[in-house]
Amino acid sequence: MKTFSATEFRKQFPLLQTVSDSDNVIYFDNAATSQKTLAVTNASRDFYLKNNANVHRASHFLSAKATKLFEVVRTKVQRLINAKYENEIIWTKGTTEAINLIAQSYGLSFIKPGDEIVISAGEHHANIVPWQHVAQQVGAKLIILPLDEKGIIDLHEAKQLISAKCKLVAINHISNVLGKINPIKELIALAKKHSAKTLIDGAQAIAHLPVDVQELDCDFYVFSAHKMYGPTGVGVLYGKQAILESMPPYQFGGEMIKKVSFTGTSYNELPHKFEAGTPNIAGVVGLGACLDIFIDKQFLPMAEYEQQLCQYLYQKLSKIEQVQFLVNGCPDIPVFSFTCSGFHHQDVATYLDSKGIAVRAGHHCAMPLLEGLGLDGSIRVSLAPYNTFNEVDFFIERLSEFCLGELNEKVQESLAIESD
Ligand code: PMP
Repeated sequence: MKTFSATEFRKQFPLLQTVSDSDNVIYFDNAATSQKTLAVTNASRDFYLKNNANVHRASHFLSAKATKLFEVVRTKVQRLINAKYENEIIWTKGTTEAINLIAQSYGLSFIKPGDEIVISAGEHHANIVPWQHVAQQVGAKLIILPLDEKGIIDLHEAKQLISAKCKLVAINHISNVLGKINPIKELIALAKKHSAKTLIDGAQAIAHLPVDVQELDCDFYVFSAHKMYGPTGVGVLYGKQAILESMPPYQFGGEMIKKVSFTGTSYNELPHKFEAGTPNIAGVVGLGACLDIFIDKQFLPMAEYEQQLCQYLYQKLSKIEQVQFLVNGCPDIPVFSFTCSGFHHQDVATYLDSKGIAVRAGHHCAMPLLEGLGLDGSIRVSLAPYNTFNEVDFFIERLSEFCLGELNEKVQESLAIESD
């Protein structure tokens, strides 16, 4: 097996080489967005500088070149997630738009009064609010699957709550707060037993696990390029061909039509039916430049390294008396949420920021989850394979000194002013 070197991998990310006033940036906010490889920014830049034209339209050579560069990435994504057909890959601007597309198109057309939509207590707002809207619009009921003490969807409860009334089960593969892998294979099988469709929010999973949509047998799988070292403004909606074909368009305009007349309009074939308007061509081309990271033989050793980093951070954090994890046990990917007893989460993040460490504090777009745990926020530390054991050590030292109140007076004063 190929070995993985975090030092070598890190070299691909220009931002991580930049030096702030005193030190390198320690970027521990990867669940929000990952850093971008030079190959990604170069591919997008080169597209504008050398190949810029609109896709699927003009009969000139530049448009043909641009279309080829754009469509080749669709094929790469198809291979990445093992979709059966290329036209099952729909470009969106992110996970949020992909879920909204399904909600507006599938949800409003196929979910009827009295039907049930099942989500979990651990969803990101992007997989809650669109379903609240659909439920209100059509008169359906939203059912919430509880999590167990380890922070994963409780299968026993799910067996009680998913019934013949359920039309759709929409759940995350990995929680963006807890970093725990949900038992999605079992939940997909359970949904199927009741003929319900399944949507998996893979925003946090795609950069950490191999995903095979045919093996999972889910109906929809969605994710964002910017969490897998790719550009912002690009997302993927995978849907089974027959289901996508049965769904009405989500947005209307150019590209998604076959024929337009004032007496009636017919719609284009998949995937174009769901891609109205000019897409983010340079963004998609940029995404194409980082997919090799996941397809390469290096992926498994990289995931192994990430696991070691995850265990290491868990052990170190567990030793700090004030640290209280939101749920029991080490996360499955390095996404840690915790509070520090006696301190406000924002003060912890502000102190770490003053030391060059970027973490997230707040509700992480999962207010119901935090509320269910009796919290209004937490600190979230999320790592990527370009992070190192040394960075973890430095972070733990800074967090310990904060928790032990070993701060100098100046820092204490500035934190006091900010929280006033
Ligand atoms: N779902 C999950 C689990 C997420 O972590 C995120 C991003 N934090 C989203 C959905 C939304 O992704 P985006 O903002 O890229 O649309």
